[in-house]
Amino acid sequence: MAEHELPRRGLVLAAAALGTGGAGYPPPSPIDSGHVEGGRVQFPDWRGPADPPGGGAPQPRPPGERIGFAVIGLGRIALEEVLPAFAECKEARPVALVSGSPEKARVVAAQHGIPEGAVHGYGELERLRENPAVQAVYIALPNAMHREYTERAAAIGKHVLCEKPLATSLADCQAMTAACARAGVRLMIAYRAQYQPHHRATIALIRSRELGRLRLIEAANTQVNGPGPQWRYDGRMAGGGALPDIGLYCLNATRYLTGEEPVQAFASIYSPPGDTRFAEVEESIAFQLRFPSGLIANCLSSYGTYENRSLRLHFERGSIEMAHAFAYEGQRLTVQRRVGEIGAEEERIVKPKNQFAQEIDHFAACVREGRQPHTPGEEGVQDQALMEALYRSAKEGRPVRLEPPPGPTRGPDPA
Ligand code: NDP
Repeated sequence: MAEHELPRRGLVLAAAALGTGGAGYPPPSPIDSGHVEGGRVQFPDWRGPADPPGGGAPQPRPPGERIGFAVIGLGRIALEEVLPAFAECKEARPVALVSGSPEKARVVAAQHGIPEGAVHGYGELERLRENPAVQAVYIALPNAMHREYTERAAAIGKHVLCEKPLATSLADCQAMTAACARAGVRLMIAYRAQYQPHHRATIALIRSRELGRLRLIEAANTQVNGPGPQWRYDGRMAGGGALPDIGLYCLNATRYLTGEEPVQAFASIYSPPGDTRFAEVEESIAFQLRFPSGLIANCLSSYGTYENRSLRLHFERGSIEMAHAFAYEGQRLTVQRRVGEIGAEEERIVKPKNQFAQEIDHFAACVREGRQPHTPGEEGVQDQALMEALYRSAKEGRPVRLEPPPGPTRGPDPA
């Protein structure tokens, strides 16, 4: 017997000792060790009621029980945000890749534990049909390709989580929702901000009427883009410039924050003359939306001004400011209001969570349980209709009336 091996009797004693926290230590209290209830590990709160409660231990599903995703298109969003986010998911895992760059795909597959046999080219997408580990796809391709890959994934029975914007035309968006409905698969648009905790907290604050009625919204999403060629400057591939790429976050926010649909839109667009990047798509856009309650939203978006992703909401009795509202991280929520005789500014501390993981897990849970996602295809269809109206307004130089969507565009709130 090697020196470090214990005889059987010693093992039994060691195991018994482990159960009491080790020889000589007092046994742990139930508060310290927690307990298992309904298959979940739970700890009673160890703090007093005055402190905010802890978040609890995450309860990830065993990997083999998670919804398996094929990630289609290995560009920046897929590699820098989506694939890393799977490591924080509890309901989903990446199991296949579809790419036009075999060498890159092999490297990425190895990094994420995806078998080489589950890496395919675009022409082989239909081979996913035979892979039972793949229940859903995440489409991270340039905008104009979303329709084709949604239709092909739906045709082989895979659920679709598609990057924003849903497509580059209203007709394409409608074809995508119809194809998924026909195939009996779920379609969700990847509106990450609608799953981001600070945005959820803001929606709750608005609904609570703590600050009275919301009257005005200011939203900006701007950045400085680099040189071409890149698909974002190609009108056919992108469907537009700053508006569908980043201004869309402002547009979508005005709708999910208010729960209303705009009735009138007015837009101005600008592209610097002679800048070949903006020969086909706009550099900058400013737009105003009016809502049935009287609320007005002013939105700005640009590819040509220093990064600003801010949101400010003006209420009867206060205002809310969200810093970095549309960024991947760094959101902060401050409330300005009167407290007694003084004006106060307070930060509402909201625990940050990876919004990509939240969004992917939400879709995976919807697939598992056969439920409607919070941001189904219809949510993207409505924004596309509004973006087309904004371009019309800019072209005609006048406000345009907007029709309400034909039905609800959002499913139940995410958990
Ligand atoms: P990238 O340009 O970084 O990557 C696109 C990838 O698509 C390429 O790397 C390539 O992957 C694949 N591709 C296939 N055909 C083409 C083609 N003809 N031209 C260009 N690329 C092609 O784009 P992003 O990752 O930034 O954007 C992808 C999608 O994600 C867009 O719809 C965009 O709007 C959205 N997005 C969403 C964000 C969010 O926060 N939710 C942020 C950024 C983008 P491969 O080499 O594997 O074939």
